[in-house]
Amino acid sequence: MILRKLLSAGALLALASTATLSTVTLATVTLATAPALAQAPPPHDLLLATLWTQRAVEYKANALTVYALARLRLDEALADKTWTAAPGEQKGDFAALPPAVVLDVDETVLDNSLYQAWMMKNDQTFSVKTWNQFCADQVSRAIPGAVEFTKYADSKGVKVFYVTNRGAETEKDTRANMEKLGFPMGGNVDTFLMQNEKEGWGSAKSTRRAAIAKDYRILLNLGDNFGDFDDRYRSGEADRIKAYESDSAYWGKQWLMLPNPTYGSFDTATYGHDFKKPLAEQRKAKWDAIEGWSGPK
Ligand SMILES: [Mg+2]
Repeated sequence: MILRKLLSAGALLALASTATLSTVTLATVTLATAPALAQAPPPHDLLLATLWTQRAVEYKANALTVYALARLRLDEALADKTWTAAPGEQKGDFAALPPAVVLDVDETVLDNSLYQAWMMKNDQTFSVKTWNQFCADQVSRAIPGAVEFTKYADSKGVKVFYVTNRGAETEKDTRANMEKLGFPMGGNVDTFLMQNEKEGWGSAKSTRRAAIAKDYRILLNLGDNFGDFDDRYRSGEADRIKAYESDSAYWGKQWLMLPNPTYGSFDTATYGHDFKKPLAEQRKAKWDAIEGWSGPK
């Protein structure tokens, strides 16, 4: 791969200097391309994932597929009064309760790849300060299929709740951003449950689901992070896999996961969710975790 890139850059240089590639030896190609490589954009951990979520039709089609399945599952759930997407929180006789769906916000209904790209291009990492400034700009875009699905649920009399780890201080801007994009806003019910909006509403989401489940039958739960479904998301990789397996009856049925390769507990699990660890150590932990082929025999 590296050789191919060197040759391709070398070919361009060779053309520019009117020499033919056949007269250039590999040694001179390598020497000639050294200055060009020195000026190349630096590598960045977020480049490919951000490119995919922001630009790829493959990503867009994937999100549409999840939301198309959500619509089918919603119809199934409405017809089956024993169905709930909140097995830990839905108590008592919930069959007669009005129906609701629960969706996470970031990278589930809102695409924040502009913030990811800002971090990449300015050599920044996530901070609450810059994140809240980004939220205040109200420039997040809709994930493909999200507006259409939530409007469909709303049209069926299903209350659409947003359970998000955006802080309570961003609620006004988040609402304004989503209203502009056409999401159902809940009418006279507060359907935006922000992190720390009430006591006990930490980053783990079961307490907020429990608050909804008191008055509604939760039909579906949609998210992009294991923590949108299961409070055990902050354990180590091996325990996360065990928890994921114990939830297997729900995936693809009551629980639907959007793809998000740009950030999440899948990433932080590799370095013990220790955000203060230097970036180089975080990266090493990921290299250490990943398995590879032993190579050609
Ligand atoms: Mg999210």
